[in-house]
Amino acid sequence: MAGALRFAPSPTGLIHIGNARTAILNWLHARKTGARFILRFDDTDAERSSEEFAAAIEKDLAWLGIVPDEIHRQSLRAAAHDAAAEKLRQAGRLYPCYESADELDRKRARQRARHLPPVYDRAALKLSDEERARLEGEGRRPHWRFLLDPGMVSWDDSVRGPQSIDAGSLSDPVLIRADGSYLYTLPSVVDDIDLGISHVVRGEDHVANTGVQIQLFKALGARPPLFAHHGLLTAADGSGLSKRLGALSISALRADGMEAMAVASLAALIGTSEAVAPHQRMGELVALFDFSKLSRAPARFDPAELEALNARLLHDMAFETAQPRLAELGIGGDRDFWEAVRGNLTRLGDVEYWWKVVSSDIEPVIGDADYCALAASLLPAEPWDSQSWKAWTARLKEATGRSGKALFQPLRLALTGLDRGPEMAAIFPLIGKSKSAARLRGQKAQP
Ligand code: GLU
Repeated sequence: MAGALRFAPSPTGLIHIGNARTAILNWLHARKTGARFILRFDDTDAERSSEEFAAAIEKDLAWLGIVPDEIHRQSLRAAAHDAAAEKLRQAGRLYPCYESADELDRKRARQRARHLPPVYDRAALKLSDEERARLEGEGRRPHWRFLLDPGMVSWDDSVRGPQSIDAGSLSDPVLIRADGSYLYTLPSVVDDIDLGISHVVRGEDHVANTGVQIQLFKALGARPPLFAHHGLLTAADGSGLSKRLGALSISALRADGMEAMAVASLAALIGTSEAVAPHQRMGELVALFDFSKLSRAPARFDPAELEALNARLLHDMAFETAQPRLAELGIGGDRDFWEAVRGNLTRLGDVEYWWKVVSSDIEPVIGDADYCALAASLLPAEPWDSQSWKAWTARLKEATGRSGKALFQPLRLALTGLDRGPEMAAIFPLIGKSKSAARLRGQKAQP
């Protein structure tokens, strides 16, 4: 059985690079093992969840190359959640409690004063039928707690190794609020069971939930899945990513010109024993993936590292990959053009300037007008090729005695308008004689 994995975001906002990392780790393991990859929207919070956010999450994942095999919504599975709750009630594992939030606070304060752990005292279990009826008569509605089994809950975490949680030290968790709505725990376990989830891969902020969830799987008659809890991504200053959501959302990174494969490469490799390097295809990341390579330590996300990765990805990008993207930008450059300029790009959009340099008008920068005029008069006859630059500058060297920067830099400034850029030998033949002559004479447009 190949099994199934799920990425389970709440559609209450955009996903950021840390969420995308969880999605990618799940997807990579699914692709590596032939398991199904499921996108599950944890949308039981009707007020905060929206279809717009669900659609945006789907779009962001697709942009990264992650297309789920199935999509499910928890909000459509209420009947299954209710049936599971009823099963737990029948088994005596779900019990009604009537304490208000204030009463619970006071209990915890008293426990702390006596140096006791602030664990729920299960007072509600001792209520008689009459006491319950009286409380309900006062208009109180119960919330429902899961009765934990005492003792250790253990699992072998695919990232963290053997883990144990002492259930005796935990409060019985509330599964259902007084208004009848479910907290995250029960629907998540019920859906994991029904969707055949074989491996739960998520951030280490969920480790504490896992002990309770393992008991819930068992109470519902199911075998718990495997668990893998990866370390969290933090911002460069060590703070949590969610506070920086705006700038680090996947859609913001896309709008900022980051390539999908640069983001995917970083998300897949950060916090692992592999070097964070740009990969051109998801298949390469699948081949590299293994839980044993994931570190438990938090990894720092640095936007400058992503930008550098983006540049490296573009520098190595094949013309075949770049061509449709160039076409989208309205750029008709051929292989020679792409290979001449790709080494100077940080963002694909940077290519627009170089396309202007070879195909239309730029503002030439003339530092030494006499030298540039002489250079114009010595331009070789066309056709030009990869040797033309060398031949022309050798003649200029002979004619003027200039060398090094004094020989080359005024030509680069006049021909490209910038003091740095692609190899002149590669871009010079693409500019051609008439544009070169005009620019060397300080003219913006061709005559
Ligand atoms: N909706 C939960 C979250 O976003 C899912 C956690 C899980 O993977 O179980 O944190």
